[in-house]
Amino acid sequence: MAADLVVRNAVVIDGTGADRTEADVAVDGDRITAVVPPGARLDVDVSTNEIDAAGRVLAPGFVDVHTHDDGALLRHPGMEFKLAQGCTSLVIGNCGFSSIPAARGEIEPSGLIGVEPTWTDLDGYRSVVDAAKPAVNSMALVGHNTMRSLELGEREKREPTPVELDAMRAHVRTAMEQGACGFSTGLIYRPGRWSQTDEVIELAREAAALGGIYATHMRNEGDRLLEAVDEAIHIGRTAELPVQISHHKSAGKRNWGRIGLSLAKVDAAIAEGMDVTLDVYPYTAGSGPMAQYFDVDDIDAELAENIRFATCPAFPEYEGRMAVGIASELGETASAVVHRVLTAPKGDRTLCIQFIIDEADIEENLRHPKMMVGSDGIPDLKGQPHPRLFGTFPRVLAHYVRERQVIKLEDAVRRMTSLSCDRFGLVDRGRVVEGGFADLVLFDPATVLDTATYDDPKQEPVGIDLVVVNGAIALDQGQHTGVGTGRMLRYQA
Ligand SMILES: [Zn+2]
Repeated sequence: MAADLVVRNAVVIDGTGADRTEADVAVDGDRITAVVPPGARLDVDVSTNEIDAAGRVLAPGFVDVHTHDDGALLRHPGMEFKLAQGCTSLVIGNCGFSSIPAARGEIEPSGLIGVEPTWTDLDGYRSVVDAAKPAVNSMALVGHNTMRSLELGEREKREPTPVELDAMRAHVRTAMEQGACGFSTGLIYRPGRWSQTDEVIELAREAAALGGIYATHMRNEGDRLLEAVDEAIHIGRTAELPVQISHHKSAGKRNWGRIGLSLAKVDAAIAEGMDVTLDVYPYTAGSGPMAQYFDVDDIDAELAENIRFATCPAFPEYEGRMAVGIASELGETASAVVHRVLTAPKGDRTLCIQFIIDEADIEENLRHPKMMVGSDGIPDLKGQPHPRLFGTFPRVLAHYVRERQVIKLEDAVRRMTSLSCDRFGLVDRGRVVEGGFADLVLFDPATVLDTATYDDPKQEPVGIDLVVVNGAIALDQGQHTGVGTGRMLRYQA
């Protein structure tokens, strides 16, 4: 048979959660063309690239369902920090911040995107991404904060006028028509935090009309987590669309151990017939734009004592350091350090890391059957980013599967592949099956390991040996080949 690539003697974990099997897998063009047991030898031409898996695991390429890589696809099209983890597809536009819609030349206000748009809509953005030849596939959400900033400005605390609401509705509709998978919010952030639930419902309805989903960084992830889950479920029920709860957590020490109460609400909604899914990152720290987490006039002292600086253009010497460490050196409080950074020129461009999550809550999250893996990595490579940017997927495989045995390897792979593709509408991906797209990862489950740490975060993992994107080898024995075969995908197409 004709094949471009055959991986022999693989332990195939097919992505569905089914037990592993031994098989030889053939790829021709961008598709998987054969998955056969080792006895039934595949005869291929001499020109076929044959790789001996030698008992390593061959799985569908991982899908990072929670990224902020909208700008990174253009700034770093090699996407080394994702490819090296075995990721072949990403969902962009999370937490209400997206590359679309855009006004030409206006930098998206969150600092999460970080590129100057030359487009206005998803078709325009797609053509720019395609031209950059990214290493990985991507699927877009359209973000509420972005469209609200565009139509009302960043600082408006009021409700939108009917005209403004119509303009935002049109942005959701256009994005859906152009292939987005749904609508995202970041209701903890400005300006989304000033929206009433009804505004979100009206916009979610537009995504629902075209079969899309609602993905949310909820209004509260700490003291009022349970109310926020209620709101997310209410939005899904009223607008009649599936809900994805992003980076599910119970933040702040006094709230640790409450993740089960939140999951119980999700389970009750599912039992009622709603379609609710979630994602989590495997770390006890979060990360994001520091200005969004603090009120300059009333600094939260507990939070200030638990933050570390990732990117800090105002005080680059603070990068990689805890605010408390800097404070004790200077004989002041962590709150004073945070205040000085926030009020300095470029202080609003600070990214911080917050140690706010309980280890046991992560494990409880990972056991929930509807829980996917998403990194929430912020691709600012200039500072000292949260290690999740480089380490999320191997960390789940190494720490939570191999060492802690929280979930089985097959189940972990399912949460990184088929569950994710089914939710975000990546068709014919997420399974090792004949006829499916050849997005594949070959790894050694005994040695796979995240090596990125808070002190040394920009480290690619080990034990991930081969990554195939749309049939082409993108990573070969740890080396990036630069083939650039990623595609911007269209929802359910
Ligand atoms: Zn978020």
